[in-house]
Amino acid sequence: MTQKQREKRNGGLRVRASGQSLNPGDEAAPGTPGTGEDICPQCQGSGRIDGAACPNCGGRGTIIRGIGGA
Ligand SMILES: [Zn+2]
Repeated sequence: MTQKQREKRNGGLRVRASGQSLNPGDEAAPGTPGTGEDICPQCQGSGRIDGAACPNCGGRGTIIRGIGGA
């Protein structure tokens, strides 16, 4: 029937399941196995640098980093 149409709809957009976007400081998408939230090293968790949103964590104050190897 319209299976082709459905595939096109789902595959056309790259939408993350969580709806969150990655920041430069993130090493993986939120919820990725083997990763966890950590304080952003750039802003020390404040989410702001010089009065502006921290570019490393997007103003969130935390980043996602791998915790597997420790
Ligand atoms: Zn930051």
